[in-house]
Amino acid sequence: MNNHSESRVFRDHLAMARLQELYDEVDAEAQRVAAEHGARLQCRKGCSQCCVDGLTVFAVEAENIQRQHARLLASDSPHPVAGCAFLDNEGGCRIYPDRPYVCRTQGLPLRWIDETVDFEFVELRDICPLNDEGVPIEELDESECWTIGPVEERLAKLQSEFGQGEMARVPLRCLFKCQTP
Ligand code: SF4
Repeated sequence: MNNHSESRVFRDHLAMARLQELYDEVDAEAQRVAAEHGARLQCRKGCSQCCVDGLTVFAVEAENIQRQHARLLASDSPHPVAGCAFLDNEGGCRIYPDRPYVCRTQGLPLRWIDETVDFEFVELRDICPLNDEGVPIEELDESECWTIGPVEERLAKLQSEFGQGEMARVPLRCLFKCQTP
């Protein structure tokens, strides 16, 4: 292995480690937010309403899945296109410990800042319809919501370093060697 290959291996290894750190932080914070809502959240194994087909991830997250689930990707088939390629027949996730960031906060009350056509900043909120019953999400404290933005920025920075500026995204379904059905 020449010096260039060695440094690439080292950089990729570092990126995977930093991605795992980010996932650990996200999981800890998502658990804290979920604990604020108790029985309101209907999320459970087998509920796969947010596991839609067509999700894409940065290459750095795709690389992590490929490293952790090489055998699955080489020999198993993707779930039919009615849902995410990684769903199993019981509505579970076949890569759950290594699922992408976007899957780790689903079901929580979400908030984000958007800009109007008048260049004003407004806060928007959303929640899965199955988890809507309870205090209106507009009345929740910020700390009871997942704020979209900061983690996305960190993930984009990690991808930029991993891809040396390349920000292309990879459809989850394309990770399977055998893409039928
Ligand atoms: S990767 Fe797993 S958790 Fe994420 S959408 Fe697919 S099946 Fe659901």
